[in-house]
Amino acid sequence: MSALDPLGTPDEPGFDPEALRERYRRERDRRIRPDAGEQYRRAEAEFGYYAEDPYVTPVSREPVRDQVDAVVIGGGFGGLLAGARLRQAGLERIRIIEKGGDFGGTWYWNRYPGIHCDIESYVYLPLLEEVGYVPRWKYAPGEEIRQHAMAIGRTFDLYADAFFQTGVREVRWDDGEWVVRTDRDDEVRATYVVVSNGTLDHPKLPDVPGIEDFAGHTFHTSRWDYGYTGGDANGGLTGLADKRVAVIGTGATAIQVVPHLGRDAGHLYVFQRTPSSVDVRGNRPTDPEWAASLEPGWQARRRENFQAFVTGHREEVDLVDDAWTASGRLLGKIVPTDANAHLEPPEWERIEEHLDFVKMNELRARVDAVVQDPATAELLKPWYRYGCKRPTFSDEYLQTFNRPDVTVVDTADHGGVERITENAIVVGGVEYEVDCIVFATGFAVGMSDVMTGRLPVHGRDGKNLLHSWATGGVRTLHGFCSNGFPNLFHLGSLQNAPSVNFTHVLDEQAVHIGEVVAQARRRGVKCVEPTAAAERAWAETILASSPDRGRYDVECTPGYYNGEGKPRGPRLTYGPGPAAFHRLLREWRSGDGINEVLGDAN
Ligand code: NDP
Repeated sequence: MSALDPLGTPDEPGFDPEALRERYRRERDRRIRPDAGEQYRRAEAEFGYYAEDPYVTPVSREPVRDQVDAVVIGGGFGGLLAGARLRQAGLERIRIIEKGGDFGGTWYWNRYPGIHCDIESYVYLPLLEEVGYVPRWKYAPGEEIRQHAMAIGRTFDLYADAFFQTGVREVRWDDGEWVVRTDRDDEVRATYVVVSNGTLDHPKLPDVPGIEDFAGHTFHTSRWDYGYTGGDANGGLTGLADKRVAVIGTGATAIQVVPHLGRDAGHLYVFQRTPSSVDVRGNRPTDPEWAASLEPGWQARRRENFQAFVTGHREEVDLVDDAWTASGRLLGKIVPTDANAHLEPPEWERIEEHLDFVKMNELRARVDAVVQDPATAELLKPWYRYGCKRPTFSDEYLQTFNRPDVTVVDTADHGGVERITENAIVVGGVEYEVDCIVFATGFAVGMSDVMTGRLPVHGRDGKNLLHSWATGGVRTLHGFCSNGFPNLFHLGSLQNAPSVNFTHVLDEQAVHIGEVVAQARRRGVKCVEPTAAAERAWAETILASSPDRGRYDVECTPGYYNGEGKPRGPRLTYGPGPAAFHRLLREWRSGDGINEVLGDAN
């Protein structure tokens, strides 16, 4: 290794890359299951998953029939941002329709102990300047985030027309406007509809033989049963003091939950299939002097700066300066603008792989440094490339395994937990008797209710949106709107550019919708609708620019990022990335592009 470069180079790495490649392959192969995504079942009531809302008393009300300017489906940050930006666009009657008892979305439903956002709060919590709030911690706890969602609702007067505890059943274009029908028999007519009902809201469970036979207590992390465990999101789970508790799963949720269960349970068994990479957290309270020094526009600048670093670009100062941006700085050493711009793709890939090894070696060394028992440390090490799984961050998770009353059980050779009996979890023929099973097994990912058909959308001439996409694939302009479905906008991950700071992406989308609607109103245009040619062109742009992650995905350890080891084709996203995508939208709005949706169709 060159003395000048502590990171080494692909030619002088300072470690054995082929041994690492071989280890990654081995670890992936022992996790691959032929049933891939079919290994899961939906969480149902018998496993402690309430379809109903455990946080409110159900209300009954008469069905409503009325007319509003816009219906927004979903009251998480996406829906709130859409509501706020449409309010700024001058709309008066905005009705957010939300299944939960209040605003917050994922932060409404998930209240498990230890819940925090793992993205810095100053860039994650949207509309901070508009609401006049600076979070109290660098990484905010879930309750503070939920309270902020409610504050957005108040600031933009979104409570006045909101429907809570209400699910949308159907959206239908009728005589120049939308009719939105709900499970409370409401019939709301609206000029505009924004669909923002999330993709991570259907909890899943492993479909393990015997799961119905377990006679102890069970629940999913997204419906934490404090009645059983005692305590609250800050911990203090006193009800578990004499209990043998199992947690199944070691993803981003488990990383936050395990330190509390480890501290409070009589004994904790952590059933692990794939260890997460666990980087430094470094949470700290907000410095009041710093908060007082913030200048108008600070949040947008900070968000852009964060996005630049995590997408491999560089700016002079790293404002967030945390483990996310440190990884971004490292892995972004080969962005096209720097000295390596001349490299051919294979050489590029060699450097990228090298830097990935460096990062993962660092994370594996952290396990050795923290976990005292070498055999346990070995089990907790992640053997895959950095982007195969969502990275996690904690200064307590790995430390929990130094407790004598915490045991990690490796299930990788058995495809996960093998069997559940009346009183135990079975792995490799060994029965682990437990009183309670906490499923930290995640969510059915990537499928919005529109895409699964749970929310039917009928456009012009009764055309069903999902059916029309079944032939010829998804067709939108910029991921927002489709020909035949005027004034209907999608928010989320559809033919656009993702980023780890999802609320940033949602806000750019909400701003876009708000500005398009404002322009339509200024020009007296009744229908915002792309031409078929415009959406075809965008589909082609997406297809041509989508990053080719084929080999990368196939070589990754299985998980929901790669279809559980069976990638379903390329990830259809805008290849140049979120910053370029947002720039494209801004230029499109301020130039002639916008005529593609405000033009002849009207
Ligand atoms: P994940 O899907 O990430 O994790 C599920 C876990 O369950 C995995 O470790 C999985 O193992 C394990 N598992 C599944 N089936 C079995 C089985 N049969 N036996 C043993 N283990 C099993 O869900 P999470 O709830 O942790 O996270 C979901 C997403 O929510 C995250 O990716 C992130 O996007 C978001 N999140 C964000 C947070 C934030 O702070 N911003 C915090 C928490 C979550 P394997 O990996 O082997 O499949």
